Amino acid sequence: MDDFGLTMLMRRPSELPPALALWSLAFAFLVGACWGSFLNVVVARVPAGTSVVRPRSRCPKCGTQIAARDNLPVLSWILLRGRCRTCKAAISPRYPMIELLLGLAGTAVVARAGWSMEALELFVLVFLLTAIAFIDLDTWTVPHPLWIALVTTGFLFGGARAMADAAPDHLIDRAIGAGGGGLVLAAVVVAATGVFRRTGRIGADETAMGWGDPLIVVGIGAYLGWRLLPMVILLASVQGTIAALALRARGGLKGDKPVSESDDWVPPAGAVPFGPFLALGALEAAFFGDALLRWAFGHVGLGE
Ligand SMILES: [Zn+2]
Repeated sequence: MDDFGLTMLMRRPSELPPALALWSLAFAFLVGACWGSFLNVVVARVPAGTSVVRPRSRCPKCGTQIAARDNLPVLSWILLRGRCRTCKAAISPRYPMIELLLGLAGTAVVARAGWSMEALELFVLVFLLTAIAFIDLDTWTVPHPLWIALVTTGFLFGGARAMADAAPDHLIDRAIGAGGGGLVLAAVVVAATGVFRRTGRIGADETAMGWGDPLIVVGIGAYLGWRLLPMVILLASVQGTIAALALRARGGLKGDKPVSESDDWVPPAGAVPFGPFLALGALEAAFFGDALLRWAFGHVGLGE
């Protein structure tokens, strides 16, 4: 470890002296938490189609512009005890939770890959999938700008890797994942809709699942390639089913009211959107999928 300076800080923290490693991870948390703060703006504004850049955030209750000192990720919410400084209206704990989550994601990607392209790619994936998951929870829709951003950045990172390694397979894997995964999910939507319409579970103008789910899978395929996709779908289905059963026992997620003012569609009692579970499965596969596959195939004797 004779070189010193920025290139050294780009190493994995496990290769750094402990004090430097700690600074690297703490700084990664801070950067991640600030992006978490922006993610809250994205979740609130993208479904409404308003700008994520301006105006500055306001209290939804009294409309007072939120001062910079009250806009520090996680910390401000704790210092203000979860209330608006002006009108004392309660501020949802979801805001600091998302900031904390993205801070931890920043730490996790830097711990794994240092300050590298690989870490950036993982972090952008976490950011976009978390945005899609919370918007889908709120509105049961996936805004076009978000899945398009997922597909575009997925192929950009793939292209960068293909050039760095002089190996076009990175891009080919992703193209097969995006195209194939999207087609398989679209086929599931068509088939389930046919069955549900015939059995009268849904009306003649309704679909069994949203078209948002195939679009999310196109984006996930553009990042993870086709090899991890079956695992993503399996993880999403299992965890989605468990959550749906748990929620049904408690009486459903939304109650029986329309999801938005522009749409009078009412989610069926006890239903949960599938998008957040696709996002969760994709992140689990992105972080642990390769290790899991090696372990599984090692055990049945197919690995090297
Ligand atoms: Zn207020």
